[in-house]
Formats: sequence, structure tokens, C-alpha cells
Amino acid sequence: MRAVYFPGGGQVDVREAPEPPAPGPGQVLVAMRAAALCGTDVHTYHLPAEALPAYPVIRGHAPAGVVAAVGPNVSNVVVGDRVSIYQYLGCGTCRHCHAGYVMWCAQMQCHGASTDGAFTDLLLTNDRNCLPLPPALSLEVGSLLACTLCTAYQGLTRLAPHGPERLIVFGVGPVGLATVLLAHAMGADVLAVDLSAPRLALAREFGASATINAAEEDVLDRVLALTDGEGADAGVEASGAVVAQQQLIGALRRGGRGCIVGMGSHTPSVNLIQLINKQLTIHASNVAPITAFAPLMELIQRKRLPVDRLITHRFQSVEQASEALRLLETAATGAATFVWS
Ligand SMILES: [Zn+2]
Ligand SMILES: [Zn+2]
Repeated sequence: MRAVYFPGGGQVDVREAPEPPAPGPGQVLVAMRAAALCGTDVHTYHLPAEALPAYPVIRGHAPAGVVAAVGPNVSNVVVGDRVSIYQYLGCGTCRHCHAGYVMWCAQMQCHGASTDGAFTDLLLTNDRNCLPLPPALSLEVGSLLACTLCTAYQGLTRLAPHGPERLIVFGVGPVGLATVLLAHAMGADVLAVDLSAPRLALAREFGASATINAAEEDVLDRVLALTDGEGADAGVEASGAVVAQQQLIGALRRGGRGCIVGMGSHTPSVNLIQLINKQLTIHASNVAPITAFAPLMELIQRKRLPVDRLITHRFQSVEQASEALRLLETAATGAATFVWS
């Protein structure tokens, strides 16, 4: 089977990989049908080789597919089930695994980062990582659920936006666009900030009532003009940019609350003293606990959210991995996925 590896320094290696072994106890073999790319992939493939694991790992942390084989003691799924796959593998018995925060397990592995991932034909995972998809949700949506949608949803659950509130989203790449869509569905009035006009157009399509192009406008002046001089009640930083982290602090009203979701520069950006005067509450959120998926799938179905429209680009083969990553680097698209026919 063909598989995508990142050797470092902006290189992409697509080559033959051995098929996974037959599933052992509690394991499931899944035939990939959709695998979304993510901002993390763009960041990771540019890392220097020494910053990546010494052993080769098949990339892709947003898998969805059809169960092809199950090992002994598997009770969650049967062959033929359509599943989204949770990216973090844990021991299944520690307190973090029980709470759903598998990323905190001492034995944590991550598909596409420390163990083989989705950018290939077959993926071996754990029974408990399989999230069966209801009939109304496609496999492409299943791959978006695995990272983009669950990250957006979990960031918003920290803020619990509601009806009369104004919520600002910095950075409307795939996670930011999903945040706009979900926050709008939760009832908030959503403002979106980005440097890309095409992405801001998508944000309006997904429910943003106003957009601010940070390349052309003074962000804080516009936020104050749009919020009766008060600032936004809540905000999500989904770009990872230092300037946007600073603008989030400036854009929140007194007593406001923010959530940091975007990973990017490691440069210190915010003087915490700035939080005191406005008495802000700042959360941080990383992907999602596995417990987030049931309420997220219910929300998408109950509100009939057009989450499939978040995907603006589809690639029919992992051979196109370089092309797909370069497209995402233009920062002008919605989500992109590999799809298997
Ligand atoms: Zn991701
Ligand atoms: Zn554990």
C-alpha cells in the first residue's frame, strides 16, 4: 500500500509501506475512505528532520473508513461499520483514559504522529478508538470530526457561547471555519478575522455576521465599532499567530473570556498583567477528549449543520500529498481531504 511520510524540511515522501498485521485482541483494521489534512500537517512537514521521530511514521491524524477486520474481544464494531477514528491511543484503564482525556495517558500514542496514521489504505487501531458514524454523517464528515470539528467544538465548550453573545474568531482556516459554523449554531453572533478574503467569504457563508480583514483594516477599531464600544463577550484564537493572540486580548470586553486553540509560533505574545484590568478568563484547548464526539455528532444532526461544505478540496490519491499540502499553505481554502473511491 502507498503511504505518506514526512522526512523533514518540507519534504514529502510517498512510498510503499507494509500492510499492518492482522488485528490482535481489542484491535480493529480499518480500510481508509477519507482522511482530512490539517494545519498541524502543514506545520509538521516543515519541521527539521531532527525534530521528528527517528522512526518513520505514516502521517494523517484524521482517519475515517470502513471496518475491514476485527481481532478477538472486540465489541464496539463489526466488519463493515463506518467509523471515524479518535487520534489518541491510550491504555484504556488510567484515570485520564476513563475521563476521555486520552492525550494525557502516560502511554499515549497518536495516529499520524507517534504511530501510523491515515494517509494510506489500511489503519490498525483500537476497538475503543472507533467512533461509529450515524447514517446521516458521511465518511468525509467522519474525517473532519476526527480533528477539525472536534477541536472547534471543544474550544467552544470552554466558552459556552449563548444567544445574545458576540463571539470573535481569529483565523478562519479549517478549525476557525468550523468554529464559526458551530458557534453560530449555538446561537452566538459571530465575528471572524483573517488575512484571506476567500476564507472570510467562507466565514460569512457559515454564519459570521461580520468579517474583518486584518490585512486591510484596524482589527480593534472594527471590533469596537461592531460591539457598541464594548468588545466581544468571548473569542477563539485559531490562527496560532502572535499578533492574533494579542488582538484577542484587546478585542474581548471587560469580564470577557477567550480560548487559545491555534498552534503556531512559540514566541511569547501576551503579558498576563494585561488580563487584570479587564478581568479576563483565558482557556486553552487541545483537540478534544473522546467524550466530545457523541454530543458533537448529535448537535450536527439535530441542527442539520452543513459540515460537509467545510471541505473545499478533495484529493483522490495520497500520491497528491505534496500538492495538497502546498494548497493548504496558500491559507485561502476550507478543509482538504484525501478520499478513497
Ligand atoms: Zn489536526
Ligand atoms: Zn491511559
